[in-house]
Amino acid sequence: MSSVRRNGKVRKRLKRRVLKLQGNLCAFCNTELNNSVDSIEFQPTLDHKFALSLGGDWSEDNLQILHGFCNQMKKLIYDEDFVSLVIQYEYII
Ligand SMILES: [Zn+2]
Repeated sequence: MSSVRRNGKVRKRLKRRVLKLQGNLCAFCNTELNNSVDSIEFQPTLDHKFALSLGGDWSEDNLQILHGFCNQMKKLIYDEDFVSLVIQYEYII
C-alpha cells in the first residue's frame, strides 16, 4: 500500500484539525462551515491548496476546508482555460 494515500480515518482527523485552525470558516468565502447541512454544495470538503498532481502534499499547511460549492469555484478560477476566457472577455467589453 502506498504511504501517500490517506485512509478515511486519517483524512477525517486532518479535516477536523484544519477546520479548527480556520475557525470553522470556509477558506474561500469566509462564511461558516457546517457539517450537518444536507446539501452537498454546502458540506465542508478537504482541499489541497497545491494539488497533489502539482507536487502538493498532505501537510496541514497545504490543506484547507471549503464548501463543496466553493471548492468547485476555486477549481474554475485556477483553471487556466477559464482564466484566459475571462481575460478575453474583459478585453471584448
Ligand atoms: Zn465557502
